Amino acid sequence: MSRKFNFCAGPAALPEAVLQRARDEILDWQGRGLSVMEMSHRSDEFVGIAEQAEADLRELLKVPANYKVLFMQGGASSQFAMVPLNLGGKGGTANYLYNGIWGKKAIEEGQRYLPTHIAASSEATGLSRVPFQSEIQLSADAAYLHYTSNETIGGLEFDYIPDVAVPLVCDMSSDILSTPLDVSRFGLIYAGAQKNIGPAGLTLVIVRDDLLDQAQAQMPTMFSYKTFADNGSMYNTPPTYAWYLSGLVFDWLKNEVGGLDKMAEINRRKAQKLYATIDGNDFYSNPIEPQHRSIMNVPFRLADASLDKLFLQQAEAAGLLNLAGHRSVGGMRASIYNAVPEAAVDALIEFMTDFARNRG
Ligand SMILES: *Cc1c(COP(=O)(O)O)cnc(C)c1O
Repeated sequence: MSRKFNFCAGPAALPEAVLQRARDEILDWQGRGLSVMEMSHRSDEFVGIAEQAEADLRELLKVPANYKVLFMQGGASSQFAMVPLNLGGKGGTANYLYNGIWGKKAIEEGQRYLPTHIAASSEATGLSRVPFQSEIQLSADAAYLHYTSNETIGGLEFDYIPDVAVPLVCDMSSDILSTPLDVSRFGLIYAGAQKNIGPAGLTLVIVRDDLLDQAQAQMPTMFSYKTFADNGSMYNTPPTYAWYLSGLVFDWLKNEVGGLDKMAEINRRKAQKLYATIDGNDFYSNPIEPQHRSIMNVPFRLADASLDKLFLQQAEAAGLLNLAGHRSVGGMRASIYNAVPEAAVDALIEFMTDFARNRG
């Protein structure tokens, strides 16, 4: 068996040490004689696993005590509806920042449940940067402001946290845990797990507790944050194995990486050298303003797009997987999440330099 370097945008690479531990524990978890997958979610064993995962996540992100951590399902896409349903009960307008494809999807879904207002957009500048704080204009009756801290497809990331007088809601699917975070600035944070947390099937929500009683009437029980908050995310059967594996990732971040300051330092180094390769070679380009380039998702184009297929074929042969850009934009994209080791980025840079020399 040989593991290759995986640059997939999601479901994405997991830390090898986590997969090895899961392998060691898969048949018999800590001498109990059964797999985590086969445990009752109400057993002492699983409740212990779940509580440890939450405690480690809280420690990593320094989540204040007045915030609930919810382990939900349905992906980030379900949150596009759950946010207005849960926060829009007192009326008002859902405000959004628009700077990419995921934010747009959130807006389109939000429009079905609340009046919406685009408080700032970078569409006029080709979505090559994020809106600046000075451009944000909330509507008078804003219920909250939603934004996407890292646009996974476009490859642009906020370098600041918007400062507004209404609850701030953030889709952090592709950059949560990449760097330390001041959770207290937010009303609500959500993230699908399959980028930087764990396997697909789990959706993380961190919500300030005063926002749990703002739901619209007729809320389906299973779409209500309050249901999850009141029941330790176990009103019904949670995705137990995904929760357990995410817990192993939190443990890895804490004890092997050494926390989020350390993780951020490694991520910055990985991104800097990859962007330097792109900028330093006429054969490659990236259109995003340097200040707003993502440290997690690095899209790039070849000077000659007719070589795209060859690039991908040769990359795969060199053990570099999943470098094709999103199907809606084409080109290339290297997702270099927490679990993608620096050695993977070094190998990619070497491959890119050779490819440009031989073909460019
Ligand atoms: C991947 C992604 C989504 C969609 O996630 P699902 O869990 O597949 O619904 C939404 N927002 C961002 C920023 C993403 O990266």
